[in-house]
Amino acid sequence: MSVRYLYRVLPASKRICSYWRCQTQILRNMSRTEDGRLWHYGCLQTAKDEYHRCQECGSTLDGTQVSLADYADGQPALSCGNCGGTLRMPSNFKTVMKIGNL
Ligand SMILES: [Zn+2]
Ligand SMILES: [Zn+2]
Repeated sequence: MSVRYLYRVLPASKRICSYWRCQTQILRNMSRTEDGRLWHYGCLQTAKDEYHRCQECGSTLDGTQVSLADYADGQPALSCGNCGGTLRMPSNFKTVMKIGNL
């Protein structure tokens, strides 16, 4: 289904990329997954290639199944889309978000 109409019905402030590394506004190349979340097309492809393993429920997840949790102890954390448990951050996570680098 085309997502083009979403540019009209959603203000830019509501078009936030769901990719946990990104979280910036989507101005172009928007995609939507079946659960209704919005993504930059490139972010969605990158997220699908990610691999996470939850220590708490043992499930394996890709980047579309995890979300950025509240920072605990000043450290960023990911939460498991299956059990809500905390995932270890990938070692290549950069704490500097690429704001404005769309
Ligand atoms: Zn994005
Ligand atoms: Zn889990």
